[in-house]
Amino acid sequence: MTDATRPVVIIPATPTSNGDLHVGHLAGPYLSADIYARYLRATGRPVVYTTCTDDSQSYVITSANRLGLPKQVLVDKSTSEIGHTYEAMGAMLGNVNRGLPPIDDTYRETVQRFVTELRDAGKFEKRTLKMPYATKAGMYLYDGLVSGVCPACYAGSCGGVCEGCGHPNNFDELLDPRSTMDPDDPIEMREVTIYVLPLERYRERLTAYYAEHAAVWRPHPKQLIDELLSGPLPDYPVTVPGTWGVDSPFEDTPGQIVYPWIEAMPASIYSTWWSLGATGDVDTPWLAETNPELIYFHGFDNVCHWGVLDLVLLMAHDGKYVLPSANVVNEFYDLDGEKFSTSRGHLVWGADLLADVPRDLVRFYLALTGPEFQRTNFNRSTMDHITTTRLVRPWNELAEAVERAVADLPDGTVLPTTERGRGRARAVIERVKLCFRLEHLSLGRAAETVLAQVGRLRAAVSDVDSKEALGDLMLELRTLLACASPFFVDTTEGITPDLDAELPHEIAPVRFPALPTIESGTNP
Ligand SMILES: [Zn+2]
Repeated sequence: MTDATRPVVIIPATPTSNGDLHVGHLAGPYLSADIYARYLRATGRPVVYTTCTDDSQSYVITSANRLGLPKQVLVDKSTSEIGHTYEAMGAMLGNVNRGLPPIDDTYRETVQRFVTELRDAGKFEKRTLKMPYATKAGMYLYDGLVSGVCPACYAGSCGGVCEGCGHPNNFDELLDPRSTMDPDDPIEMREVTIYVLPLERYRERLTAYYAEHAAVWRPHPKQLIDELLSGPLPDYPVTVPGTWGVDSPFEDTPGQIVYPWIEAMPASIYSTWWSLGATGDVDTPWLAETNPELIYFHGFDNVCHWGVLDLVLLMAHDGKYVLPSANVVNEFYDLDGEKFSTSRGHLVWGADLLADVPRDLVRFYLALTGPEFQRTNFNRSTMDHITTTRLVRPWNELAEAVERAVADLPDGTVLPTTERGRGRARAVIERVKLCFRLEHLSLGRAAETVLAQVGRLRAAVSDVDSKEALGDLMLELRTLLACASPFFVDTTEGITPDLDAELPHEIAPVRFPALPTIESGTNP
C-alpha cells in the first residue's frame, strides 16, 4: 500500500449533544477536518470523514438541568441540530454523506466489547479511591458535574480536565469542589471502588510514539504532552458511579457506567464503520492490517483525552488497532475578544451564521482566521469587511475579466500552454500542498495562498496578448479552482479537482465561477 492509496480516516472530536454547534466549534475542529478531507480527496486519497455525537457526557446532565429538559429530549434535539448544521456548512460525513451515525445498540455493544477485551486482558486495575459526593443530591460528581480550582494552574475548572492548562484532575484532585448544579449541596469525599487504566504502564510506548510523531504536534499541545510526561502519569477512570451513559459491562461494578471519555475510541471505530456503509465487522476499518491513516482534529482542552488517554486505549489492545498519525489541535476562537460560552449565551450559532451568509464565504473566512496556533477572534462586521474586500471583490473582478477574455473564442477552441505557464501552475500547487502537510498544516496559510493568486491573476488578465498567454492563464485559473476547492462547496461544484494531474500542453477555455456576495444571503 503506497501513501497515495492508503485509506484515511479523519475524525473531529465527537461533539457533545448538549446543544448545537457554535461558530467556535466550526472554526475549531469541524470545518478544518472537512477542508482537510476535501484537500486529500483532491490528491486522490480515499478518505472517510466521520464522527458521532457524544451523548454520555456529564455536560448533557448539567445542560438538561439548566434548560429544564429531560436529558434524552436534549440529546435528540441537539443531535438533530448538529446534523442540520453539518449539512448547512457542507461537511460531508461518510463517502455518500450518510449523516450522523445513530447512538444505538451497536454503538453501545461496540463500547462494551472494547472495554471488556481490555478488562479480560488485565489492562485495567480495580481501585478504591475517593470521589466528591454531593450529599443532598446523593450522587458522585465527575467532569462537568463538579467545579472547583485546577490543582495545576489554579484557574477555575470543571472536573476531569482543566480547560485552561489542559491538565487532568480526576477523583479527589480538584481543589474546593462544588456541585455545578447546586453549589450549596454539601460535598464529602466518599470512597468508591472502580476500574482504572494506569497510564504509567505505557510510559515507554508513549515516549517512543511522541518522539516518532514530534514533527506533527503543534507547539502548545506538545508542551502539554511534555509536561504530563515529566511527572507520574495518572490513572484514568474506566468506570464511574452514575446512571447517564453506557452501562458498565462488568459484573462487579453495579450502578456504574463506562467513564464517558473512554467511549471516544470505540465511538470513532463505530462511526467509521457506519459512515463506510455499516457492512461487515465493525472493527475492520481500524484494524492494524487494514492500516488506515488516522487523523484527529480537536481542541487544546482535549489533548489529555484524544492525545494521551485514547492513544493508550489503542496501545492497550496490543497491536490490534492502528495508532493515529496526527492530532491536529486548535486553540480557542473568541467572540468579540471573549471565549464563546453557551451557558452565558455569548456565542453565534453556526446555523444562524450559515443562514445569513453563503457557506462558501463562511468556510473560507473561518479557515483564514481559525485558531490554529493561538487564540484568534471572530467579529461579524470584521468578517463581512474582510470577506468582501479580500476575497469576493477581487475574485469576482477576476471572474468578469476572464469572461471578457474568452467571450469571442469560437466553440471548440483549444489553447496551447507554455513551459513557463506550467511552471507557475506547478509552483502554486506545491505552495498549497506545503500548507496542507501535517508537519505544518495551516488552513489559514492555504487560504492566504489562494488570495494571493486571485490578486496576481486578476492583474495578469490585462497582460494577455497571445494564444499562449491565454492558454497559460486558463491553466492557472484551473489550478486556482482546484486549490480553492477544499474551502468551497457550491462555487466549485461540478469541478473535480486533481492536484496531482499532469499539467496539459493544451487546454480548453475555463469557466471561472463567481462567488456569492455577503448580501446575497442564504445558501442554495
Ligand atoms: Zn489548569
